[in-house]
Amino acid sequence: MSFAEVLNQTAATAYLQKSVLGRVPQALLFCGPCGVGKKKAALAFAKALNCLDPRCRQTGDCCGVCAHCKAIDGGIYPDVVVADFLYQARLEVKKDPGDKGYEEELEKELAKQQRIKVDTIRDITAKSQQKSAVNGWKVFIIDEAQSMQAEAANALLKFIEEPPQKTVWVLLTDKKAAMLKTILSRCQPLQFAPLPEETVERLLRQANPEITDPALAARYSQGSLARAVRAAEALDILHAAEPGPAWPAAAAAALPRGMVAARQSAQAVLDVVMLALHDAWTQAVDEKTRLAYQQALKKMENYKIAVLRNVSPALTVETALMGLDKLHIRI
Ligand SMILES: [Zn+2]
Repeated sequence: MSFAEVLNQTAATAYLQKSVLGRVPQALLFCGPCGVGKKKAALAFAKALNCLDPRCRQTGDCCGVCAHCKAIDGGIYPDVVVADFLYQARLEVKKDPGDKGYEEELEKELAKQQRIKVDTIRDITAKSQQKSAVNGWKVFIIDEAQSMQAEAANALLKFIEEPPQKTVWVLLTDKKAAMLKTILSRCQPLQFAPLPEETVERLLRQANPEITDPALAARYSQGSLARAVRAAEALDILHAAEPGPAWPAAAAAALPRGMVAARQSAQAVLDVVMLALHDAWTQAVDEKTRLAYQQALKKMENYKIAVLRNVSPALTVETALMGLDKLHIRI
């Protein structure tokens, strides 16, 4: 995989390619919605810095097939670390990989992840101080960087300020405003734009040919592949029955089993409903209807909070959909 596979982010990838050939910043901050290629671009950047192909070394790109590129793609290159919730969950599992029940425990830990913790930052900053195994570039990618606990962010500060030679930090976030100013001021920001609807639809078809209505899911994606995947699932739930008296209960019953999955799906369902309400609101012709949509949107916000606060996802979805009864929205 090369930079060309990071779709529709030409300004960001051109900047990265140029910096591979010239001066590499100490720390970068990739900002933009989830699911638009930030992690892909960070990995392409890590590969471009370490690629063994002589032609790629002249263009600042990566070949995707040399031993280094393959190891980075496989997550086994010692100098490139992606610190995300999966990485953190692996640190927290008490068992060793290969032990009986490891995968189950990992799954449980993963479901609990909400913030990047100070212990995880200490783990990767310690790695940043070790000598490179192959004398290449060390790249430390921190996903969901806005979720770092204050203690974690503070622990990271001096490392991004004075990294050892040939070391670069890449922070990824979809909520730049939630990040500490001290971190922001030390990172070179790079903006990632939402993807065009057609691109999301195409990627969605490639990723999962079984999705019922990729075009509709793309319409509810807000330019993010990750949101499109969630929207596709939400649409299946919402289309479990025709709109009518049985609709709310049928949709609630179509939520997945298991609290974590049900909660996520309920959030996705409410997101889709909110986008549909928002569309209807922009097209409403009279003030009274507009007001009704506005009030419904406010209620949906509250239902989303309720789901996060452990109110039953099924009950919340059912109640939320019953409230749409007279609004005539099409999803
Ligand atoms: Zn390569």
